[in-house]
Parts: sequence; structure tokens; C-alpha cells
Amino acid sequence: MLASQHNSTETVVRHDWTRAEVEALYAMPFNDLLFKAQVVHRQHFDPNQVQVSTLLSIKTGACPEDCKYCPQSARYDTGLEKERLLEIEKVIERAKEAKQTGSTRFCMGAAWRNPKERDMPYLTQMVAEVKAMGLETCMTLGMLTRDQAVALKQAGLDYYNHNLDTSPEFYGDIITTRTYQDRLDTLQNVRDAGMNVCSGGIVGMGETLADRASLLIQLANLPEQPQSVPINMLVKVDGTPLDKLDDMEPFDFIRTIAVARIMMPKSHVRLSAGREQMNEQMQALCFMAGANSIFYGCKLLTTSNPDTHEDVVLFKKLGINSERTREYSDEAHQLALEEAIEQQNPPRSELFYDATEKGQTESA
Ligand code: SF4
Repeated sequence: MLASQHNSTETVVRHDWTRAEVEALYAMPFNDLLFKAQVVHRQHFDPNQVQVSTLLSIKTGACPEDCKYCPQSARYDTGLEKERLLEIEKVIERAKEAKQTGSTRFCMGAAWRNPKERDMPYLTQMVAEVKAMGLETCMTLGMLTRDQAVALKQAGLDYYNHNLDTSPEFYGDIITTRTYQDRLDTLQNVRDAGMNVCSGGIVGMGETLADRASLLIQLANLPEQPQSVPINMLVKVDGTPLDKLDDMEPFDFIRTIAVARIMMPKSHVRLSAGREQMNEQMQALCFMAGANSIFYGCKLLTTSNPDTHEDVVLFKKLGINSERTREYSDEAHQLALEEAIEQQNPPRSELFYDATEKGQTESA
């Protein structure tokens, strides 16, 4: 039973956070901050439940964008093996495995600036088929137009991930090929289409504390707070421009989780990339600070993640259960599937192409 069911002083969701307030949260003594975050967390969530997602890269590498942290950018020599758009049967196979290991949400990511129109029928079919398995669906495909967001929503996409990455002030140091406003526009298109928004950022990229506060203010002060907020710790990949940065102070990372929890009390705060660099105790402190979502599986899009078995062992040690997905009716799944097949799908043979050869790497 949630603490909120007993507590009349439930926090309200605010969209007017100021820099001074957020910096004051960061400046609190660590134990006080964690206690405050835990109180907020218990008002809205079962503190011993963590939502588990699995992430699959459906198109890897050769991305035209220049995000300085990313091994998938075509601009950096990271030795990453490029992969063309995955065949739908392979995606379904991986979704089945994810479901068997306890994931409730299946996230599919493509290293694109944005999806091309010719990709849309394939993507909508993929969404419908994964959803028909009883999994929540999530995609991350780059920038989306309003029409693309509507098409994905109609196919059954529950969540769309598009991170703000960092503060507007620091953004230009990290990415130059799309603007902050482009990102905000995509989030608006996703919201307007009625999908849940998954949006967060990366810390440890050389930003200041003021930048971290500014990123969280951007997220919390959106017209609707993102339902899912991934907080990533930079994974330094050889060959990317950020590969020589100093490690960030782990307590600063935990503080960022706690401040995000306080500012976005009803959002799932996702402990995302960088978990492999954290020991069990640090992950436990992140859960204490209000993180309540993780990715299962040994690989994120391209960087490694703790083995699923290690996560199961950690959950057992901490008495954490994975959150159950909401129920869908079989009829709803069947309908979504049939509609997708009927309306949107050219023969599959037309859909599988080498993304690199067909110009998928070009900027739109
Ligand atoms: S757009 Fe995505 S895949 Fe492309 S370089 Fe940036 S983070 Fe990497």
C-alpha cells in the first residue's frame, strides 16, 4: 500500500521550479536530501517496486548527428559495428525473451536523426506486434513530426523517448546538429499525440551543478512532466570526444536522482546508462533516492549494462519486486495488430534494406 493512501500532505506537481530552489536542494546535507526524496517517493510509489524495461537497438551506428557522448555517431571512430534495420522477426524474438525475464516495457531504439517516411510502415507494424505480446512499447528514433507521432500512437506506441540531454546553456558544447528547441518540439509532438513522454539527460559530461539544476528545471517545468525520466551517467567510450573526462563523483549522481525525484514526484525516475560502473551499494542508494525504473539486459543501445542475473540477485538482496504491467485485453491487441497489417504494411520484403546503403545516414 502506498504511503500516499495514508498521507494528507501529498506533494503537488509543480511547473514553476526556480534555479535558486533547485540549487538549494543540491546543497542540502546528503542524508537530509535522501530522506526528503524518500518521503516524496513513498507518497506516490511503492518504494519496493521497480519498473523494468528492456532496450533493443533496431538500427545501430552511422548516425549523422554529432552528440559528443555517443559511439553511434558516424563522426567518431569508436570501432562500433554498424547494423542495418533489424528484421521484424528478430525484434519479436528479443521482445519474447524480454518478457520472459520480467520486463514490462520493450524499448526499441534507432540511431537516426529522424525516421524517414519510408520507415514508418515498418515501425508501426513493429509497435503493433510487440504490443500484441502484452508488453508496453517504447521507441527512440530521433526527432518526430506531428504526423509521425500520431501514426506511432495509432499503432499502439505507449512511450516515446527523446532526451533533452543537458541544460540549454551547456547544450552547444555537446551537440551542434540539432537545437534544444528541436528537442522541445519533438516532445510537444509526442505529448500532443497522446503518448507518454520519456525524457531525461546525461550527467558527468563536464557540466556544472548549475547545468544539472537547469536540465531538471527544463524537464519539471514542461507543460506536463515526463512520465519517465532517465538519468544517465556518462559512459565514456573510446573514440568519442568525451572519452578522457574525469569520472563524476558518485554522490553527485545520487543527488541528481534525489533532486529529480523531489521535482517530479509522479514520474518514474530511471536509473539508466552507467549502471555497470556502479556497485550494488551505489545502485541501492539510487533506489533510496527515488529511482524506480531500470533497464534489464546485458546491453543498452551499444554500451554494456549489468547482466540480467545480477539485477535479479540485487533485487532479491534489496527485497525489490519488478512492477507489473497493466493488463491489456486480447481483443485490443488483436485489433491493433490487424489494423497495422491491413492499413500500413507493404510486403515485408520491401521493408528490409540496408539502412547504410539506402541513405539512412544522411541528415534529413
Ligand atoms: S542522435 Fe542518438 S544515435 Fe545519433 S549521435 Fe545523437 S545520441 Fe547517438
